[in-house]
Amino acid sequence: MAERDADTFDNFEGGAGTVDGVDADVVVVGAGFAGLFMLARMRELGFSAIGIEAAPEVGGTWFWNRYPGLRCDIPTTDYTFSWDPDLERDWSWSEKFATQPEILRYLQHVADRHDLRRDIRFSTHVTALRWDEMKATWTVSLNQGTAVRARFVVMATGALSVPKDVDIEGLSEFGGRVLSTSRWPEEPVDFTGRRVAVIGTGSSGIQVIPIIADQAAELTVFQRTPAFSLPARNGAPPAYRMRMLAEDREGYRDAARRSSGGVPIDPPTDRAATLTEEEQLARCEAAWQAGEIAALNTIFADYLTDEAANEVIADFLRSKIRATVTDPATAEALTPRDFPFMAKRPCFDTGYYETFNRPNVRLVDIRRQPIARVHPRGIETGGDLVEVDDVVLATGYDAMTGALLAVDLHGREGRTLREEWAHGPRTYLGLMAEGFPNLFMITGPGSPSVLSNMVVAIEQHVTWVARCLHDLRAQGFASIEPTATAVDGWVQHVNDCADLTLLPSADSWYVGANVPGKPRVFMPYVGGVGVYRDTCEEVVERGYLGFRLAGPDRTQCHDGVVNGSPRDVAIPAAAY
Ligand code: NAP
Repeated sequence: MAERDADTFDNFEGGAGTVDGVDADVVVVGAGFAGLFMLARMRELGFSAIGIEAAPEVGGTWFWNRYPGLRCDIPTTDYTFSWDPDLERDWSWSEKFATQPEILRYLQHVADRHDLRRDIRFSTHVTALRWDEMKATWTVSLNQGTAVRARFVVMATGALSVPKDVDIEGLSEFGGRVLSTSRWPEEPVDFTGRRVAVIGTGSSGIQVIPIIADQAAELTVFQRTPAFSLPARNGAPPAYRMRMLAEDREGYRDAARRSSGGVPIDPPTDRAATLTEEEQLARCEAAWQAGEIAALNTIFADYLTDEAANEVIADFLRSKIRATVTDPATAEALTPRDFPFMAKRPCFDTGYYETFNRPNVRLVDIRRQPIARVHPRGIETGGDLVEVDDVVLATGYDAMTGALLAVDLHGREGRTLREEWAHGPRTYLGLMAEGFPNLFMITGPGSPSVLSNMVVAIEQHVTWVARCLHDLRAQGFASIEPTATAVDGWVQHVNDCADLTLLPSADSWYVGANVPGKPRVFMPYVGGVGVYRDTCEEVVERGYLGFRLAGPDRTQCHDGVVNGSPRDVAIPAAAY
C-alpha cells in the first residue's frame, strides 16, 4: 500500500507525483464520530488516509447542528468512544445528556489527542466518485475542481446529516429571518421580543421550542404530526451506570456491544398480556421516570410486535400529555393517535408539554389548518395570517441515504448508486453495495445504525472495515465487493425483520416517508447491534462470506458465496 505524507495531497492537481497512481490508500469522507475513528484506525494500521470534510471543523452533525437546546438523547456514559481507554479516563462528561457544545468539544479533543486534523481537508465537498476497474481505484472529485485517487473510500457521512429540502410554498418570499435547526448560525440568535414560528415537532423541534418560548414575545408552533415525547430528566451522568463502569468498564462496554440498542439493559422476557393492569402501568411509569430511551425496551418483550402491548404504552404516554397540558383542546392536538409508539423515533424533552401552558405560546395543528403559503409578513393557515418575525424550520433530514446519494457515484461499468437505489437502498450488511467495489459505508442503510446508540454502531463498523482492509492487504487482494446474491439475501432479511414489527407502519423518516418522492423502504436493520455484530463476525470467519475478493491483476478471485445460493448469505437465526 502507498506510503505518503498526507500533507502533500494539498497540492494535488489530478495526476503528477502520486505513489502507485494513488494519493492515499483510503479516502474517508466526513469527520464526525465515524470519520475521526476511521482516520485513527487507518493510521494505526499503517494505511495512508485522507479525510474530506465539508465543514471548516471536525464534528459532523454535531458541528452543523447547534440550535439552542440541542443535546444527545443517549446518556453520555454510553454516547462516548470506547476504543481509546486513555481517552475514557481523560474525559468526563458534565451531564447525563450533553449539550451540543460539549459534544463538539469532545470530538475536537479526540481530533487533537490523535493529531487527526493534519489528515483532513476541511471546507471541501466530495462531488463525485468514479471507480476505475482496471486500476482498482476510486477517483474522488472535490468541489474546488481537484481530485484525489485512492484504493478505498469510506463514506462516514452520517445517517442524519443532509437536511430535507424545504417543501413549504412561499418561504423564499418571507421578509424576516429564516433559521434551520440543522444549519444553525454559529453566532447566538436572540429571539427577545420577537414573534417566532417553529415548523416541525420531531426531536429537533421539541428541544428548541421550550428555549425559544422563554425568549420570544410570541411563539406559534406549526405541528403536522404530534410526536411521543418523554421527560429527559437531565442532570448528572446516571450514577448507576457510572458505578457499573467503575466496577467493570470493559464488561459494561461489551454488554453494550452485545445488546439490542447499544446500551446495556436487562431485556424483559414477559409479554404485556401476562401482566396485570397494575403491573403494566408500574412498568410504564418506571420507564417514564428513567428518562432513557433504553428503558423503553425494558417494559414488555412484545411492545414492538404486538399492537395491544404497544397500545398500553402509547395510552400511558397520552395520559401524561393530558395531565400536563392544561387546555384540553391543545392537549388533544399534541396527542399522537395514528401510529404505534416507536414507529417514529420517540423524543426526550425538557419542559416541552409545559411550554404549551404559557400565555405566549400557541399550537397550530396544520393537519386541520394546513399552511396555505408563507407571505412576506407571516404564515397563512386556515384563512388567517399568523404574523411573525422569524421562521424556524425543524423539518428534518433526508435520512440514511441523503448523504450517499448527494454524491454523483459511479461504480463498475458506469453503474450509478442513484439508479441502483431508485427503489430503495440495497446493501450487504449496510456496509457495501454490489457494483461499487472498495466503497464502504459507516452505519449505512441495512445496518442497525439509527435504531441503536450510534457510537456503538460506528465503532463496530469502523473496526470491521479496518480489519477487512488489513485482511485484504495481508492476503494480497486489491478489491472487495458483495455479490448480487448476498445483497438480495440481506435486503430480504432486513425487510423480513422489519415486517415482523410495527415499525414500518408509520410515515416516518425510517421509511423515507418524510421526503416527497422517496421510495418507501424500511432502511435500518431491526435485528439489534448484538445479533448484527455476530453476523458480521461470522461473515469474516467464513472467509468474507457473500463478498467477492480480487487480486491486483483482477483475476485471482475468491468468491465468498460458495455456491451462489441465498442460503449462503449469513442470516442470523437469532433475529427471527
Ligand atoms: P424529524 O423527526 O423528521 O421531524 C421533522 C418535523 O417536521 C416533523 O414533525 C414533521 O412532520 C415536520 N415537517 C417536515 N416537513 C414539514 C412540512 N413541509 N410542513 C410541516 N411540517 C413538516 O426531524 P428532527 O426533529 O430533526 O429529528 C430527526 C432525527 O434526528 C430524530 O428522530 C433523531 O434520531 C435525531 N435527532 C436527535 C436529537 C437528540 O439526540 N436529542 C436531536 C435532534 C435530532 P411529520 O412528522 O408529519 O413528517
